[in-house]
Amino acid sequence: MSASPPPRAVDLAIRARWIVPVEPAGAFEHHALVVDGGRIVALVPSAQLSTGWAPRSTVDLPDHVLIPGLVDAHAHSAMTLLRGIADDVALKPWLEQHIWPREGRHVSPEFVRDGTLVACAEMLCGGITCCNDMYFYPEASAGVFEEAGLRAMIGLPVLDFPTPYAADAEGCLRAGLAARDRYRHSRRLAFSLAPHAPYTVGDESFARIVTYARELDLPIQTHLQETRPELEQALDASGETPLARLDRLGVTGPGFVAVHVVHPGPGDVERLAAQGCHVVHCPASNMKLASGVAPVASYLAAGVNVALGSDGAASNNRLDLFAEMRLASLIAKVASGDATALPAAAVLRMATLGGAVALGLESTIGTLEPGKDADVVAVDFGALELRPCYDPVSHLVHAAGREHVSDVWIEGERVVERSAPLRLDRAAAAARATLWRERIA
Ligand SMILES: [Zn+2]
Repeated sequence: MSASPPPRAVDLAIRARWIVPVEPAGAFEHHALVVDGGRIVALVPSAQLSTGWAPRSTVDLPDHVLIPGLVDAHAHSAMTLLRGIADDVALKPWLEQHIWPREGRHVSPEFVRDGTLVACAEMLCGGITCCNDMYFYPEASAGVFEEAGLRAMIGLPVLDFPTPYAADAEGCLRAGLAARDRYRHSRRLAFSLAPHAPYTVGDESFARIVTYARELDLPIQTHLQETRPELEQALDASGETPLARLDRLGVTGPGFVAVHVVHPGPGDVERLAAQGCHVVHCPASNMKLASGVAPVASYLAAGVNVALGSDGAASNNRLDLFAEMRLASLIAKVASGDATALPAAAVLRMATLGGAVALGLESTIGTLEPGKDADVVAVDFGALELRPCYDPVSHLVHAAGREHVSDVWIEGERVVERSAPLRLDRAAAAARATLWRERIA
């Protein structure tokens, strides 16, 4: 007769009504997530927790569902300061008449710091634990993400024309790589090269970007084929789709994240699949700017990984992955005339694992599997509007909202407790936003 081993001491156990780990699929009822050293070590039935584990801290969430932290796979975080400044315009006039002139006047490291701070508070409280950011002065945004404890992929922006940030592409790259040097050892930050778009960055700059990407092992992300005119003008000028051009220039591959791709041209779906590229779908922004509906179902059918993004608060006007999940599902059904298109489990996967895969972080985050970092979001299903609950995955996409997020952990560290951020002062961030309103308006 052998005695069973004593329970193993661990940092934390979170007991919840349901756990939706994304991988494996489905919802586990009355289970506990066991966390130690910032990592998930087990997912066990709550009733069996004490036989194997001796947690130093236990959190009981009897009405809640635990999900992996949401990944906003495309954001311009600092643009929270331009939230609602220009509604009801298409992309080209939105950029040329409203956004670029204001950025020209106001963008500075201080603007980026304050805007990113507002974004971090909004994202954390809404269950977003990882953000793929793309904006000027990445050194300023990296500092805020680090302070907030949010995981971020910092896109180092590149444009050929002068901005307050840099005179040209070379200046952008110099400043961006200096930011990366400063923060490259941060556990929660990663970096990528972020040429703005094929229509703002020329071949020579793309060639330089590819060289740096290969030398420094950095992924590349860019806006791509967001509007029909972008595709048509490229085809008229060269007979080549912008994606085909990037393919020819060596930009595409498994480290390439194409944002939007609302309008694929001839051969583009096959090109994305063959090169192992990732697509970030931003349904709210695409709808608001009337850019169109990305053919997400055909990307998934071709085997292309798809993630979800907000595109920042200037064109959305929320940083809200719950809203993006619901819109992604609804718009796919309307666009295809097929009610079975993009079911709830598929969009939840895009908002979590799909984002992690796009950022090359799938061994660290994206699911609640043992061995991964404990980036966990608790959603309170106790509210009247979430009752009754037959299927928590359906509710997460179609009934719940970010207002139901109660608690958030990143790498096992609790960063939101009962809807309040623990590292950030939400009132101070709101005051900064108000101050910028006075300057910009
Ligand atoms: Zn964007």
